[in-house]
Amino acid sequence: MPNSKSRVAVYPGSFDPPTLGHLDIVFRAAKMFERVIVAVADNPAKKHTFSAEERLDMVRQAIKKIPNAQADIFSGLLVDYLRENKIRVLIRGLRVVSDMDYEFQLASFNRTLYPDVETVFLMPDERYTYFASSMVKEVARLGASVESFVLPDISKKLKEKFELRGN
Ligand code: ADP
Repeated sequence: MPNSKSRVAVYPGSFDPPTLGHLDIVFRAAKMFERVIVAVADNPAKKHTFSAEERLDMVRQAIKKIPNAQADIFSGLLVDYLRENKIRVLIRGLRVVSDMDYEFQLASFNRTLYPDVETVFLMPDERYTYFASSMVKEVARLGASVESFVLPDISKKLKEKFELRGN
């Protein structure tokens, strides 16, 4: 690992849509690093509810009050994005022990592809440990309020999306 200290960290994910749990992780990362880039994955192989552009817009809106956080979009391998931008720290959120299986696998995979990279795991506030974007979408699809899980603007977008789809 090179000797220079890392000032920038990337927090990658689908953010389909960004939740209060994601936002909590960005707040925590922003206290630790000079700059945090929330990187929205544009992966055509994955089925998303919101397009990559919509997800980027939502993330941008959600983090606008955090001066040292910014949003970006990436496609292809995350390690290529990191290399291109000379970034060596990845942030991931750990909610429950069952997240660890997948997250450890992913971190090892990224480290094999790019040995200079370190993954930093952050734990959100207890209020946010039990839900994921997929559950929030299911609640919204069934017509219930999601205000406890996402920002009001995003709750509105979810409502519109599912009304439009009619399911
Ligand atoms: P991915 O498809 O890459 O897992 P997600 O948007 O689902 O993308 O998650 C991005 C990161 O945020 C992951 O590390 C995930 O564990 C974390 N995360 C997801 N939901 C929450 C939450 N409620 N609280 C804290 N971290 C979360």
